[in-house]
Amino acid sequence: MEAVVRTGATFFGYESLNRVSFLRNDVEFVRKSLQHKSTVFVPFVQGEALVRGQEEPELCLLTLQDGWFPMARVVDKLLPVLNSQAARVVESGANLTFLGLKSSDGDDVFQYRSSYSGVPYYAVDFRTSGGTLIQAAELEPLLQCARVDRKLIFEMSNETASLYSHAKMYLDWLAKYHFCPGCGSVMFPVDAGTKMQCGNADRSVACNVRDAAVNNVCFPRTDPVVIVAIATKDFSRICLAHSKRWVHDTLYSTVAGFMEPAETVEQACSREIWEETGIRCRDITLVSTQPWPYPANLMIGCVGLVEPNGVDEKINLSHDNELMDAQWFDVEEVIEAMDRYDGSGVVKFKKSDITFPGSTAIAFHLIKFVCDRYKRSLGSL
Ligand SMILES: [Zn+2]
Repeated sequence: MEAVVRTGATFFGYESLNRVSFLRNDVEFVRKSLQHKSTVFVPFVQGEALVRGQEEPELCLLTLQDGWFPMARVVDKLLPVLNSQAARVVESGANLTFLGLKSSDGDDVFQYRSSYSGVPYYAVDFRTSGGTLIQAAELEPLLQCARVDRKLIFEMSNETASLYSHAKMYLDWLAKYHFCPGCGSVMFPVDAGTKMQCGNADRSVACNVRDAAVNNVCFPRTDPVVIVAIATKDFSRICLAHSKRWVHDTLYSTVAGFMEPAETVEQACSREIWEETGIRCRDITLVSTQPWPYPANLMIGCVGLVEPNGVDEKINLSHDNELMDAQWFDVEEVIEAMDRYDGSGVVKFKKSDITFPGSTAIAFHLIKFVCDRYKRSLGSL
């Protein structure tokens, strides 16, 4: 199997767009970019993207000039309701969000003021019902397209998968959050679908969201997850864990868990390591991070180093009872196994056959990081 195309970024972490976040609240920018002939739309239906093509399915993208789907008509309907209550998906039938500008050398790319140019990218999620501005019948050509399935995404290029991930995380948030957490009023999208505004117009009713000078409750949420490879200080041994959730396979991987409020990344790693494996580890270093659109996570990849002293490295799975097994492996053996590993499938070890995480997962790169540091310590890298 050919390795997934990489460009130095983790999978889902390839940024091909300039998000120009400061232009999202510029209504003129939004209106003009929505109507530009180069603008690309990533269509979703009921929260999932679409694919076109039978032989080599590709993520479905639209422009205003495509003959097979009347995107221009959709934009004409959405323009008058932007930044108003009527933009809510239950009234408009679509959630729209601006993704960014893609640099291009073409002559006819979008230009804004003298400083900003590129191909504008938007994502749109159609959720029609009987009374919506956009009607299901108008979507007929799109409804003929297959929905993206999770397996297919991992076979796409990192650039395409990252575009999908970016769109999906915003659209998932727009679809899920309808009511103001301050007063319970309906919210509506503003700033090109990247922020939600409390719709409570009654000033006699207090709302600590609407009335706050600074607030952060109506922005999309990202849930941070720490994921950490545990190794000895000399990188010669690595602890890999087998979760009870993976009862039907032989996957051994790193440990991971959600960060909690008022924790540092380092504290969250140390806590997860101890809770899951019993290992005491305080030496945590950030390695890399990965957006993960299932549904809205940021995987914060770290390595935790342990100085074996007969106590700190001892494995004890009885604290939170999440793991079926955890073992210290010789990194030399892991390196040999990794050399035979093509990003998927089973790897033969001396003691048993185990499976590594796929090469699109940050866990794979954390294990590889430990292997590379060990090789470097031997002077072989
Ligand atoms: Zn409110």
